[in-house]
Amino acid sequence: MGASIEVADILRVAGPAFRTSRAGHLSLAELKVMSAIEACRTAALGGHVEGCDDCGHLRIAYNSCRNRHCPRCQGAAARDWLTERQADLLPVGYFHVVFTLPAEIGAVAFQNKAAVYDLLFRASTQTMTTIAADPRHLGARIGLTAVLHTWGSAMTHHPHVHMIVPGGGLSPDGTRWIASRLDFLLPVRVLGALFRRLFLEGLVALHAGGKLAFHGTLAHLADPRAFARHLAPVRAKRWVVYAKPPFAGPQAVLAYLSRYTHRVAISSRRITAFDGRAVTAH
Ligand SMILES: [Zn+2]
Ligand SMILES: [Zn+2]
Repeated sequence: MGASIEVADILRVAGPAFRTSRAGHLSLAELKVMSAIEACRTAALGGHVEGCDDCGHLRIAYNSCRNRHCPRCQGAAARDWLTERQADLLPVGYFHVVFTLPAEIGAVAFQNKAAVYDLLFRASTQTMTTIAADPRHLGARIGLTAVLHTWGSAMTHHPHVHMIVPGGGLSPDGTRWIASRLDFLLPVRVLGALFRRLFLEGLVALHAGGKLAFHGTLAHLADPRAFARHLAPVRAKRWVVYAKPPFAGPQAVLAYLSRYTHRVAISSRRITAFDGRAVTAH
């Protein structure tokens, strides 16, 4: 990659003029992100000394900003996440499972991100653990790693959860491993039906508890009857759950997911040129 240009370099050069020209139009949150990225791993944030007890070697390093929008910090966080998740992998077969919300829910989720994403996580993981524990299916206590994917505009917003699930789990008494078949973990139609029930029950409870907000074209959904009408077609249709062994193994799925777990708007890797005025990125 050679001497690459980083987002921080661009902000340091062009940031002051940008702040002046956009004065009054930048939010406090945006200004804070800019300052954090500019100061990351510079003397501005101070430093620390790392020393080796054995050889006495000392290394002085500037502190990181740890801002979730900083390409430098998030790149390092993504690498750490991948290393830790790969260390978690058991020597068994794995399944890649995806729970997706129907389009009708996407717009509601877009206006109620925290509440609906939390519910999506709870409903999907509870679905997996419940069906896996059922003696008619696997009859085992399973573990899983779940990652939420949420981007897109209001129109293209299809939040979904990716899961990496071992093909098996602990017996109810915790004494032995119960393995699933190599090519089949749990029936996706059963998963889809329980996921639909758990999610919709949770969503209606959030609505009843006044935990959902509706704006613009969705404003009418604040009315419980209008909301029930909006959900009627969603109740009737099949909720699709994907569950298959990954072709390239669980490592490949984790690597794919790690590119998104700590995603920033633009990573420094995409920037190819900066002449002090214009940025070129691919
Ligand atoms: Zn940083
Ligand atoms: Zn995804």
